[in-house]
Amino acid sequence: VEKTMEKIVALSKNRGFIFQGSEIYDGLANTWDYGPLGVELKNNVKRLWWKKFIQENPYNVGLDTAILMNPRVWVASGHVEKFSDPKTDCRHCKARHRADKLIEEWNRAHSIDMKVDGMSNEELTRYIEEHDIRCPNCGKKDFTPVKNFNLMFKTYMGVTEDSKDEIYLRPETAQGIFVNFKNVQRATRRKLPFGIGQIGKSFRNEVTPGNFTFRTREFEQMELEFFCEPGKDMEWFEYWKEFCRNWLLSLNLREENIRMRDHSKEELSHYSKATTDIEYKFPFGWGELWGIANRTDYDLKQHMEHSKEDLSYFDPTTNEKYVPYCIEPSVGVDRVVLAFLCDAYDEEELEDGDVRTVLRFHPALAPVKIAVLPLSKKLGEYAFEIYKELIKYYNCEYDDTGSIGKRYRRQDEIGTPYCVTFDFDSVEDKQVTIRERDSMKQVRIPVAELKDYFSDKFDL
Ligand code: ATP
Repeated sequence: VEKTMEKIVALSKNRGFIFQGSEIYDGLANTWDYGPLGVELKNNVKRLWWKKFIQENPYNVGLDTAILMNPRVWVASGHVEKFSDPKTDCRHCKARHRADKLIEEWNRAHSIDMKVDGMSNEELTRYIEEHDIRCPNCGKKDFTPVKNFNLMFKTYMGVTEDSKDEIYLRPETAQGIFVNFKNVQRATRRKLPFGIGQIGKSFRNEVTPGNFTFRTREFEQMELEFFCEPGKDMEWFEYWKEFCRNWLLSLNLREENIRMRDHSKEELSHYSKATTDIEYKFPFGWGELWGIANRTDYDLKQHMEHSKEDLSYFDPTTNEKYVPYCIEPSVGVDRVVLAFLCDAYDEEELEDGDVRTVLRFHPALAPVKIAVLPLSKKLGEYAFEIYKELIKYYNCEYDDTGSIGKRYRRQDEIGTPYCVTFDFDSVEDKQVTIRERDSMKQVRIPVAELKDYFSDKFDL
């Protein structure tokens, strides 16, 4: 099967997973809206993350903090000074580019193995000048000097648009956790180690968004900040790397499409002692899915210095006072949803030569769990009763149009794990046929046993 982004984007649009944002106004570049199936899929991903990382984890608690924060937060965290990408503009067509990406791509095309991380803007500018690097948009070679471009979105708070009222949309959810470290610890009386997780929107004015929902300027993150004793940090770093990888595998992401990539010293962000990315093999190439970073005591110490609040921890067992270290697994909801979509996509040739498109979602992820299909519209009055009972527990669809074969294909295409078919015999024998998506095997069971039959089918 050839999995292409074109096919995945088309299916997403046609079946209601993901639409282009503001489409009837010619769209707004790189914004996307989740349709009826997309929102179910996304909610399932968030719910399953929350269950595994917060609810079932004895160490961790949840939080939900504001997108708008005091601007001093972003001075303390280093984002005002350092959260930027090197940018260059094409003087000819005005297209804007990431300087490091231009060089990396050119190097790759010319089989040059060279590190771009750690190069200064002057070095990047010179490298672009001295090599035959051209604008991917117009083919000309006329670039402005490389400059830092800060990725934080600015807006104004209140009625005036004075620079003193300038605030930022958060570029990560993590800082909302750090500034509440003391609040949460005091309120929950937690001892180290413990973690605080949250799910929420973040905003980055990316220089080059793209690849569908992979890189957008508005996206959702699921972040855990796990606090521990200094010296135990590398142990926990290894622990959370495995934990995250296992979560992906438990949801049937194919092992051959996942790899762990350690950051080199040059590549590490200003706050990090060690970082590993879990990467996924998208149809457009390997891309970061999940960043797991050892942020040390950087953030808490920065906030102590800037806020003058004491954010250290008193260890009652050793009578020692110290600033905890922090391990951060951070994953983008939209990115991991895209990975699940790409991974699930399959085209299968059947015995009769027909090809069926099927999304092989893990049942826990599937947006529609069960489709109820009366063989004939005449059976609607019975079948609809079954549907009404099942929607109390699961997201279900009811479909009575078209041939039964066509209806199965429609459900395959959106990844519905089970179809329940009500036929003419069902009226007499009170039994229905259940068809399973992947094997296409059918079993016949009494209507009265449906609830039991499905009770453990959608668990992780
Ligand atoms: P990249 O190198 O791809 O820009 P990053 O290293 O800046 O990502 P982090 O700051 O580690 O990303 O953010 C944690 C996670 O948030 C990423 O692994 C990714 O899943 C998600 N993420 C970051 N930026 C975006 C974006 N622009 N669009 C969608 N998801 C994003």
